[in-house]
Amino acid sequence: MNLSDLKHVLWRRLTVLGSTGSIGVSTLSVVDYARTQFDEQAFPIEALTAQSNVDALAAQARRFRPARAVIGDALLYGRLRDLLAGTGIEVAAGDKAIVDAAAEPADVTMVAIVGAAGLAPALAAVRRGGLIALANKECVVAAGHVFLEAMRSSRAMIIPVDSEHNAAFQVLDFAQEHAVERVTLTASGGPFRSWPMERMARATPEQAVAHPNWSMGAKISVDSATLMNKGLELIEAHHLFGLPADRLDVIVHPQSIVHCLIYYADGSILAHLSAPDMRTPIAVALAWPRRMTSPSQRLDLAAVGGLSFEAADRQRFPCLALAEDCLRAGGAAPTVLNAANEIAVQAFLHGQIGFMDICGVAEQTLAHLQPQRPGRDLESVLAIDADARRAASTAILRLAA
Ligand code: NAD
Ligand code: MG
Repeated sequence: MNLSDLKHVLWRRLTVLGSTGSIGVSTLSVVDYARTQFDEQAFPIEALTAQSNVDALAAQARRFRPARAVIGDALLYGRLRDLLAGTGIEVAAGDKAIVDAAAEPADVTMVAIVGAAGLAPALAAVRRGGLIALANKECVVAAGHVFLEAMRSSRAMIIPVDSEHNAAFQVLDFAQEHAVERVTLTASGGPFRSWPMERMARATPEQAVAHPNWSMGAKISVDSATLMNKGLELIEAHHLFGLPADRLDVIVHPQSIVHCLIYYADGSILAHLSAPDMRTPIAVALAWPRRMTSPSQRLDLAAVGGLSFEAADRQRFPCLALAEDCLRAGGAAPTVLNAANEIAVQAFLHGQIGFMDICGVAEQTLAHLQPQRPGRDLESVLAIDADARRAASTAILRLAA
């Protein structure tokens, strides 16, 4: 790797929103690698933020020396201040402090907060500008229009980090999008790919989060098990790539090695392959449009032996069909779906509802709140999101009664 060529990449100032989560930790591992291999000052850190894991945040801050560390839970301010005493690192707490940190100047912002909670900070980062390494798909699903509008009126550039979208971003010929017939996202099928429905109905949270190929946070792991994750990703792709529902689809690929397939009008299919290791899309985003060496696993296709593909089963995985309906319906449906799913997944993880009830809760919430116009600004999206959370909580109470 030519170091002088990469200098301005390695000197990019980085903010990591959600630094203690799975994507946040992988991002810092890519930074650590760049600091060990190339330049010990690489990727100076502007801010690290987390919601409640104050000890992990403080340990990261001591190691990576950000200008500021922010904890979302305001009750943990004193503990964070004590843990970082004498370091010179500025400490702040509360939701607003996270949004403020996202609005501070940075060259790259990794948006790795989980769920619609990432919306306000992600928008603040987009409005400020620079490269937005976007892992959080829920904020695009919940507020696609608001996001795109903010993008158009800022100088931000979004680099998707979700592996399928990062793959599509690399392989799509944006200058000839009219020649793209179809974009296919691959899905591993999750831990219950071959389970009958009766068995899935009894699945435990531990079984649902045990993903066969990827190690991820609890929420996205459950979404991968229901295939809601793939449905959310179709909506994400629709907004990020401007493609209608009928040019987007899903195929199950249990090895998670091919991440997306672009079907061109001349019959060519361009695919993107890599080991299932999020440090690859993270490195792509941090270095864009250059490439840098990453610590990711390298792929040995001879050792893998075979790649297989199968159709997604929408009967056993009704969340995928529901999300596809919401994509086609548009309006506020994706916002409602996302909020209801977040509430339902938490209820499942807390043992309040069964695995197959997740879809039922989302369906009931959509039936209760349809039809609605999409939110055109952050406030109206958050209002729809809050209504949907209330309706989903009521649906859960009915189920539990
Ligand atoms: P995670 O649960 O491991 O981490 C979430 C992070 O967000 C933590 O740092 C947590 O402190 C922070 N957070 C949680 N609630 C918050 C709140 N209310 N306010 C502020 N911060 C909050 O999640 P993850 O697996 O790293 O996923 C992060 C995002 O990236 C999700 O949107 C997920 O869909 C997406 N994503 C993850 C992966 C993966 O491999 N993990 C792959 C593709 C996309
Ligand atoms: Mg993905």
